[in-house]
Amino acid sequence: MSHTALVIVTGPAADNATPGAPAPGFHLADPDLPQLRVTDLAASRGDGVFESISVIDGHPHALEAHLNRLAQSAAILDLPRPGLPVWEAAILRVVEELDPTREASLRAVYSRGIEGGSTPTGWVYGAPSPDYSAVRSAGVGVVLLDRGYRHDIQHTAPWLLAGAKTLSYAVNRAALREANRRGADDVIFVSADGYILEGATSSVLFMVAGRLLTPGTAETTGIGILEGTTQGDVFRWAEENNLSPTTVMATPDDLRGSDAAWLVSSSRHAVPIRSIDGQPHPLDAGITSAINSYLAGRTS
Ligand code: PLP
Repeated sequence: MSHTALVIVTGPAADNATPGAPAPGFHLADPDLPQLRVTDLAASRGDGVFESISVIDGHPHALEAHLNRLAQSAAILDLPRPGLPVWEAAILRVVEELDPTREASLRAVYSRGIEGGSTPTGWVYGAPSPDYSAVRSAGVGVVLLDRGYRHDIQHTAPWLLAGAKTLSYAVNRAALREANRRGADDVIFVSADGYILEGATSSVLFMVAGRLLTPGTAETTGIGILEGTTQGDVFRWAEENNLSPTTVMATPDDLRGSDAAWLVSSSRHAVPIRSIDGQPHPLDAGITSAINSYLAGRTS
């Protein structure tokens, strides 16, 4: 049983009929040794997609949703269609290697591959998660930051890759540093035309008059953000608990006026928002802990 585990996915694409393309497969590798070529476009251009998957008690959460989103992100980037069965097997192999008594997080990365080549690269890396228990109850202070784009860029500027989980997270990390400079812990992006979008690494949920709301995505509200797997699971929980989960186009005032709000994501699960731009925001400890118990108890 190890602390970290790495599987290299050889032949990560579905179509290996191209001459020279490797057959689908994977093998364990030493996570402490260099494994990536310096000319891999993941490293030099951030040209690829990824998934972060949480694992508790040996169960990878929302695996099907993560695999589907990997394929969807790859399609948005015109990457070869990933072979989902080999990715699933690789993910389960990493889970098997990890200590089941520790909460862990996996990162599945699918890159365009070596510069000048035509073969994508893939790997799955797993490591224990930081201890999120304090932040899951105490919550975070957020600032609202302008993303600089309209809410519907997936239609007007598809080359911005809205809705894909790309490897290019430098902007998201810069926004988090800006939040820290402003004395906050996290960020909620607002579109240039004034709609609540998402966090730097999370979806936004908020409660108004007993209804659980989220900004939705291209398919529902026409907002160009990532479809969150955790938000999807929390909406299933909310349905069972009569909280009328609904997708909405919301403004900063809607969020500020909400009864409670959360950032939700695969690794941190639901983190309550305790302040917005320095103003205290109500925190609902009961619902927060109910959501987090549900998320931690998932077996698929
Ligand atoms: N939005 C962005 C920009 C993200 O980076 C993430 C997760 O990393 C999410 C939303 C939440 O997605 P998930 O719940 O699938 O982790």
